[in-house]
Amino acid sequence: MSIMNMDNAFVAGTYKRFPVEIVSGKGSRVVDVNGKTYIDMGSGIGVTAFGIADETWQAAVTEQLGKVQHMSNLYYTEPCAKLAKLLCEKSGMKKVFFANSGAEANEGAIKVARKYAAEKKGADHYTIITLNNSFHGRTLTTLAATGQEHFHKLFQPLTPGFVSTPANDFEALKVLALQTKAAGIMIECIQGEGGVLPLEADFVKAVAAFCAEEDIVLIVDEVQTGNGRTGMLYAYQHFGILPDVVSTAKGLGGGLPIGAVLMGEKVQNVLGYGDHGSTYGGNPVCCAGAISVIERLDDNFLSRVRRLSGYVFSAFHGAKGVESVAGLGLMVGIKTVAPAADVVKECINRGVLCLTAKDKVRLLPALNIPMEDLEYAVETIKAVAAELGG
Ligand SMILES: *Cc1c(COP(=O)(O)O)cnc(C)c1O
Repeated sequence: MSIMNMDNAFVAGTYKRFPVEIVSGKGSRVVDVNGKTYIDMGSGIGVTAFGIADETWQAAVTEQLGKVQHMSNLYYTEPCAKLAKLLCEKSGMKKVFFANSGAEANEGAIKVARKYAAEKKGADHYTIITLNNSFHGRTLTTLAATGQEHFHKLFQPLTPGFVSTPANDFEALKVLALQTKAAGIMIECIQGEGGVLPLEADFVKAVAAFCAEEDIVLIVDEVQTGNGRTGMLYAYQHFGILPDVVSTAKGLGGGLPIGAVLMGEKVQNVLGYGDHGSTYGGNPVCCAGAISVIERLDDNFLSRVRRLSGYVFSAFHGAKGVESVAGLGLMVGIKTVAPAADVVKECINRGVLCLTAKDKVRLLPALNIPMEDLEYAVETIKAVAAELGG
């Protein structure tokens, strides 16, 4: 039985997989069961921040595996404490709660906002404002936060207390937040799953100022944009704001499941004993891997990410069969003339793995992708976009 047939027979049919069976890889290259090599421009949806089987990450993880692979949160372990310290020092946040995924990090962020508002303003201040076309996860609560109706239909009733409003319309958001006695406002600085759409800088700044003024908890969902992806440690740094809560996951663990809720000054002590928890949260192996990722995201490294980004944007800008390029850093959405799904399919034939986001081809390569691999991928995608859309 092939991998594909076995998977189709026994794994729940929630994913529309491509007929590619990956067995190994190194850096930004992966190899399928037939020995064909691909350039990986998706990095497991922005997860393998330093590529496949990265040696520094592997050493950190295996060293910790040889010591202790898990302890309950009844005891202290070094990787958990060290990662929290590193994240706080680098981001300006004050406290960290560790979870296992992006959705769980967002659940934690929402709990922080709700508890803060309930204690400070009263139990009727519970609403969380999100943006239309956002994506915040697949649990019933983060689905409620996700401002896309088609995700909601089959799973009613969702957690109450969520409303969404158009991106980049500050007046509408303000009216809604005051009307609903909002506890929190949750945004992605760049809507990832929504089509790689950066928010307007003025809007982000106005929302941040409004939250400060009205004592509303500003949550920035950096699950996809965080951990160096946009050429800064966190995407909010491009906008000159400091959120109250930052949720992150994906690239943080470099390939192992970890999520984090970073809490700023205003909310740092909101969570107390028994308010939240997670059996795996702060797992030492995941944290050891994450330390090896976050430690390397210094100015020098991030400026290389921005240089690579400049190359990608200029390569696609005005290219044949390309309508537009959007994003920040190495989070890139390319609107092609040909349907994105067709472009991605043909790129697979030619040995390049890309993602889609809505009607765009989405690129989230490893942050340390070698220039020659990046050039090969970019030239391949450009050629396919021109041929199919010319
Ligand atoms: C991927 C993603 C999530 C969900 O993360 P999971 O780890 O799949 O739960 C939430 N928010 C954003 C912005 C994401 O891109």
